[in-house]
Amino acid sequence: MHINWFPGHMKKTHDLIKQNLKLVDIVVELIDARIPHSSKNPIFDELLGDKPCVVALNKVDLADPSKLQAWIRHYAETGVAAVPIDARAGKGIAQLLQTVQRVGVARREKLNKQKRINRSMRMMIIGIPNVGKSTLINQLVGKKVAKTGNRPGVTKGKQWIRIKDDLELFDTPGILWPKIASDRVGLNLAYTGAIKDEILPIEDIGLYFIRDVYPLYAALFESRFGLSDMSDVEPLQIMETIAVRRGCILPGKQIDYHRVANLLLDEFRKGTIGQMSLETP
Ligand code: GDP
Repeated sequence: MHINWFPGHMKKTHDLIKQNLKLVDIVVELIDARIPHSSKNPIFDELLGDKPCVVALNKVDLADPSKLQAWIRHYAETGVAAVPIDARAGKGIAQLLQTVQRVGVARREKLNKQKRINRSMRMMIIGIPNVGKSTLINQLVGKKVAKTGNRPGVTKGKQWIRIKDDLELFDTPGILWPKIASDRVGLNLAYTGAIKDEILPIEDIGLYFIRDVYPLYAALFESRFGLSDMSDVEPLQIMETIAVRRGCILPGKQIDYHRVANLLLDEFRKGTIGQMSLETP
């Protein structure tokens, strides 16, 4: 199966983000801690040039703690400032802001000196759809200001919101489309909900989810769905067993593949099966 997903407006997104980047001193790139590789579009590094950036690994409440540690070590080793956060619960936000100020201060001071002004540091949040941009902005601002329609680029109505004495936030996040460089990246984005379910063959996605994720976290699946050891069982049979356990059955005793696929993805996305990460550095 190929996920052919080439959103339009690529050029427009690119240009808008480029324009808006000029306005800020520092960018917070939001990444999904469960799929740090798949949730990053490499085009962003090109757009960014030498502008300071802090990576925020979001949704750590859903991620596998040991894999998260491996990613944090990886970023440290490669000289990337990365901070784990849970934007929904507001965890890690203070550390994120400290890091933003530390990483951005030199450039901002240099610019202020050059222009003989005394402006606060200005930051923008950027990331692929559904990674938590609005949630983070709301958390920073303390009220519902971020309105995103998952449209590319950054919408009009530019506004600076003061977050701290010396820090202002661009109120609208930059939306980057994900780059689907391989089927596996496409599937990771589908599993986590970054690609809307409406455009996906959900039964297939559910089956691939079992194929890809069950072997990584067999014990979590077994305990959540009351399964015996299924390490040698085909993904389809595992899916059917889960369907039977959960009563995803149609009249005539047919397996309801659509329902069981939705159930599996829903439980994964909520973290009900357990904390799971799909990528290692
Ligand atoms: P955006 O499209 O990047 O603006 O993403 P949203 O802020 O709308 O968030 C997408 C979904 O992810 C929402 O259901 C949020 O509640 C959820 N979300 C955001 N941050 C977190 C987090 O740290 N943990 C969890 N579990 N969910 C989160």
